Amino acid sequence: MKPLNQLIRPNIKNLKPYSSARDEYTGEAAVFLDANENPFNQPYNRYPDPYQRKVKQKISEFKSVSDTNIFLGNGSDEPIDLLFRAFCEPGIDNVVSIDPTYGMYQVAADINNVEVRRVLLTDEFELDVEGLLRACDDNTKLLFICSPNNPTGNCFRKVDILDLLRRFDGIVVLDEAYIDFAPEKSLLSKLSDYSNLVILQTFSKAWGMAGIRLGMAFASSDIVEVLSNIKYPYNINVLTQEKALELLDNESNKQYWVSQLLAERDNMQVALADLSFVAKVYPSDANYLLIKVNEPKAVYDFLVSKQIIIRDRSSVSLCEGCLRVTIGQPAENSLLLEALTMFEK
Ligand SMILES: *Cc1c(COP(=O)(O)O)cnc(C)c1O
Repeated sequence: MKPLNQLIRPNIKNLKPYSSARDEYTGEAAVFLDANENPFNQPYNRYPDPYQRKVKQKISEFKSVSDTNIFLGNGSDEPIDLLFRAFCEPGIDNVVSIDPTYGMYQVAADINNVEVRRVLLTDEFELDVEGLLRACDDNTKLLFICSPNNPTGNCFRKVDILDLLRRFDGIVVLDEAYIDFAPEKSLLSKLSDYSNLVILQTFSKAWGMAGIRLGMAFASSDIVEVLSNIKYPYNINVLTQEKALELLDNESNKQYWVSQLLAERDNMQVALADLSFVAKVYPSDANYLLIKVNEPKAVYDFLVSKQIIIRDRSSVSLCEGCLRVTIGQPAENSLLLEALTMFEK
């Protein structure tokens, strides 16, 4: 990896971050008259902890990662955007991404006026390691890998990801939004071995908390510091921090949901493959299935007419004819199958 100093944009390197009202004082004060807050309506009258100390402490214990290696954002969307803002000079630097993958990397790149070089997966949806490295040049700052990948559903081979981490001299962003559903382990345990690794995880999927907007980025303390310096000071609100603490004390919920969803996914895999117009159900390491059908638009529109919404991915690279179906509650999955059986007739 290049020295971090060489990867960071000069304006970010030289930035003097906003100093919040409570930065100068740590410890327990009895009277806070420093931030022009309204003294009534506690506890929501107070600004949230800009460092999210309690939440990070819990996540740190839970994940066995030091709190200095944790960045919390308003969903994973925030660290994705901040990575562009920290490392990519608009109009000059570029990033490399697999294709097909999660659409947010491209959107964040477009907003920041940064070129994305997309490298197709192989026909088996595996990483083209040599192709990815060939696409990189001196101005490539970030390499986006999503595993399990959205929308293909598969995990990539660990040897390939590690190979990229060793050979790419910029930052590898590994998006593990769906890792709780996968048989593979997170690469979190490798964080200390690779100073150029950023792992994204989220409370939006397995934890069932897309509504509170809380995403995690795990990285070297130097990278975490860069992201922390440029975030909005109070990016995680009081309600979200409270809810996250509550949630982390009830991990059994998450485990129960995941096991339910995996069982449902297996059932759906078989049931969908049985439909005559379904040409293929791709194997999945996530909470959704990618299926190939003869007339994707007709299937999609028919389901919409039955008030069932899935995702049409048929215009995405390597996904011709493909629809993406999220695994729902058992009753919802039954309704989908019922509707698809009607379409079949
Ligand atoms: C759903 C999803 C996320 C989650 O984004 P949040 O902003 O945390 O809700 C991240 N990455 C991928 C690939 C996803 O599919």
